[in-house]
Amino acid sequence: MKTFKFLTLAGIAGLASACNFNASSPDGLSAEDITICKWPQGRTAAISYTFDDNCPNQFSTVVPILNEFNMKGTFFPVINWLNGNYDAIKSAAAQGHEIGSHTVSHPNLGELSDIDAQHELHDSRTTIEEVIGGNYKCITIAYPFCIPPKNIQLVTDDYIVARHCDGRIDMGLNDSIPIDFTNVSSHALGSVFNSTTAESLQTIFENTRAKGGWSNLLFHEIDEGTGYSPFPSEEIRKSLQYLQDNSSVYWVATMGDVARYIYECNDVKIKVCNADGKAKVSLTLRSLDPEIFNLPLTILIPTADGPKYVDIIPNGEAVEI
Ligand SMILES: [Zn+2]
Repeated sequence: MKTFKFLTLAGIAGLASACNFNASSPDGLSAEDITICKWPQGRTAAISYTFDDNCPNQFSTVVPILNEFNMKGTFFPVINWLNGNYDAIKSAAAQGHEIGSHTVSHPNLGELSDIDAQHELHDSRTTIEEVIGGNYKCITIAYPFCIPPKNIQLVTDDYIVARHCDGRIDMGLNDSIPIDFTNVSSHALGSVFNSTTAESLQTIFENTRAKGGWSNLLFHEIDEGTGYSPFPSEEIRKSLQYLQDNSSVYWVATMGDVARYIYECNDVKIKVCNADGKAKVSLTLRSLDPEIFNLPLTILIPTADGPKYVDIIPNGEAVEI
């Protein structure tokens, strides 16, 4: 478990004006005692399952398998390839899965003018948000052919995280190289990439665990469909079983949620109030929009009974420890 030093110091700085904190109280909890967990509930690594191109079997096959394990995936449909039928993405979103953008028409963004690239990036996002409704926020994009636009500002205007695919393991909190959210990597899988087994995924998991990082898995077609680079659904099921069996190590979450967790860790301020022998801890975002960044963060608190993990929603209620 790593301590995120500047968060801790910032938390202390925020105390004086936040509440009647008694710094000399031998029993009082201080912000110095609190560690922000790199991944929720003290896990070691983060894994995201992502699916591109609305290949024929993705929604019918993968969504039920993910649901079996109560895990969420990220789907990147191409708007034009949906042919106006949004039922599958609406249904997946209603079941808690993430719908990201894979642009309107799957072009090579690097070859487009700014105005054309902006259309591909912006209009795909607004279409997804409109058809899903309910104030849904589309915050994630996967670059077609893994090629970003020349003007990267166009990406950050509409999204908080964008996916590339050069097989790197990205890192999260407290690493020497800050994560580049316009260039988060992924591992391309399936027959084209000679990766069609749960064992090949397990190798990625173990490497990610060794680094304490984040890996995105990039799938296209599932089973014997007509889409690109098929991967067997039964092997996906086996991999999810492995992750469930090792759930104290691996956090399986959508790309958007993992990105939000890292963003929030880097922006949050800790406040501690001690009163009547009890401590209350709250987290406040310095600059992020709480409408989008509302994922609980896990803090680690030492207690007489050992370390305790507590989930707190930034800008939400203070939690009594
Ligand atoms: Zn694609």
